[in-house]
Amino acid sequence: MNDIDYDRLSTAELNAIHAQLLEAYEAYKRQKLSLDMSRGKPCDEQLDLSLEMLDIVGSGDVLTDRSGLDSRNYGGLDGIPEAKDLFAQLLDVSPSELIIGGASSLTMMHDTLSRAMLHGVFGSSLPWGKLPAVKFICPSPGYDRHFAICELLGIEMIAIDMLQDGPDMDQVEKLAAGDDAVKGIWCVPKYSNPDGITYSDEVVDRLARMETCAGDFRIMWDDAYTVHHLADEPDRLKPMLAACKAAGHPDRVLMFSSTSKISFPGAGVAVMAGSENNMNFIRKQLAVQTIGPDKLNQLRHVRFFKGPAHIEAHMKKHAAIIKPKFEMVLNLLETELGGKRIASWNKPNGGYFISLNIMDGCARSVVRMAAEAGVTLTKAGATFPYGHDPRDRNIRIAPTFPTLSELKTAIEILCLCVQIMSIRTFLN
Ligand code: PLP
Repeated sequence: MNDIDYDRLSTAELNAIHAQLLEAYEAYKRQKLSLDMSRGKPCDEQLDLSLEMLDIVGSGDVLTDRSGLDSRNYGGLDGIPEAKDLFAQLLDVSPSELIIGGASSLTMMHDTLSRAMLHGVFGSSLPWGKLPAVKFICPSPGYDRHFAICELLGIEMIAIDMLQDGPDMDQVEKLAAGDDAVKGIWCVPKYSNPDGITYSDEVVDRLARMETCAGDFRIMWDDAYTVHHLADEPDRLKPMLAACKAAGHPDRVLMFSSTSKISFPGAGVAVMAGSENNMNFIRKQLAVQTIGPDKLNQLRHVRFFKGPAHIEAHMKKHAAIIKPKFEMVLNLLETELGGKRIASWNKPNGGYFISLNIMDGCARSVVRMAAEAGVTLTKAGATFPYGHDPRDRNIRIAPTFPTLSELKTAIEILCLCVQIMSIRTFLN
């Protein structure tokens, strides 16, 4: 049924195809499947890649860091020196521009914005929470958990479009320059969640350079997928802190990352980075919140990963496991939905997602229909602020966790639902 332009079919032809598709869908439904593709989680085989790390820091090993600090005890507020060196190289910053945290970068982002509401950021004249309104620019589709943080803290979200090379900078510049309540922007600059887009040099420079009405504007630069390549030629992201310094706005960016999808989600190492002014401001506040992070885990990670070259080799092993899954999804989308003018999608060079755009008004019903056949997808609308996709068309596909055969079934069902709902739209 490939390359049939639904737009050109008669009602009778559309009805005939609809009946055929519905029969296939009902057959799947009778199988009482239970397939979960809702979140971007590594599969067991990926987790196994880092298992040996658990044997590295044992009772017989040296448990002091390079400075001689005992990792079993309190102290080392912003991380052990060797972990700072490693992440500094990954994020293109210097070790003094970095704070190693616990196991979750999302926690660090949440805490950063919570502290901004309570105390302001470096250079603020007032805590953000004392202002009549705080607004954030949210390139969309984006990461639902970023939006959830804003919602929780009462930060008003302004959705703007994602283009093929990053956020629509005309919209961003206008909003940032026009309103002092606009305090920041969320960015997933490399292999973005969910579009898989890497920001161009021009977008990085425009973000670094743009005029902002708020003097304490912050770019929340969530570089979660910085080494998560799928293609042989990885995307290259221009270093953001250097760009901000060059533009005369060294304090504008706060960067975040973690090893969640390099080692173990929930038991990895998270990190934030920024100018020394920003980091010193935060270190003082952190010293009240904690006496120090889990240094044994940092030691484990540094001894296992050694340096950027080892991480690169390790990520190639991840890619070897998940690339066939991405390829299968892309091939199925092409054979089932290609040429019908009912859907479009990106082919990401890395990251964890494939973002599928279907006909306007169809995403919620497709996700519901897939769920009735046992396929759980990310909630429709979740990729937009307040869970509201204005065109009701974006569906986030997370191919990494299911097995290849589960994935094949899930995507076949998804494609059936997309076609059925599209035909219903044409018929109405
Ligand atoms: N940032 C992005 C863009 C993500 O997609 C995810 C997880 O899916 C996270 C952050 C979560 O990171 P962490 O496990 O370090 O909290």
